[in-house]
Amino acid sequence: MKKYKIEAFENLVSAFQELPSIGKKSAIRMAYNIVMEDSFAGMKLAHAIEEGVNSIQRCKKCHNMSEDELCFICSDEFRDNTTLCVVQSAKDIITIEESGQYKGIYYIVTQLADLDEYHLRDAVKGIEEVIFAFPPSLATDTMILYIEDKLANSSIYFTKIAQGVPTGVELDNIDVLSLTRAMESRVKV
Ligand SMILES: [Zn+2]
Repeated sequence: MKKYKIEAFENLVSAFQELPSIGKKSAIRMAYNIVMEDSFAGMKLAHAIEEGVNSIQRCKKCHNMSEDELCFICSDEFRDNTTLCVVQSAKDIITIEESGQYKGIYYIVTQLADLDEYHLRDAVKGIEEVIFAFPPSLATDTMILYIEDKLANSSIYFTKIAQGVPTGVELDNIDVLSLTRAMESRVKV
């Protein structure tokens, strides 16, 4: 007897399983839905994935997700160009933007190893306040100290979001209201 195997289906299941937070059961359910129940949704998904992957790049000024060289925030003349919020991920920008309270611009530093000092210096030209919106941890505290040290001979005022944000929790797991409060009651670093 041959081993039960449908190669194209199994490839689709394993492709889904490579995505974050998708286990085998969900991967099988989604793959089955696409190939057997709703092939139109499947083609739509394939098209959206291809378009997303091909058209989204990093903003050359702040590293946010963007369809153009500059993201919609960096190219918005009505944003407050004197306040810069430093975040770890473009996902954090989505969370903060959802609150609708922050009017400044952003800069993404995922980890210190990726930080280009000259690029950062360029990004803080004209900036009066830098707000660190990192989830509290030893690693992010080190990042704050490092960045502040690199920009020490500027007149920038450095703050970080208040400790209302629990240690080790990513910003996209925090509700918008808590994040808004943490931004409002930011403290000097
Ligand atoms: Zn940008």
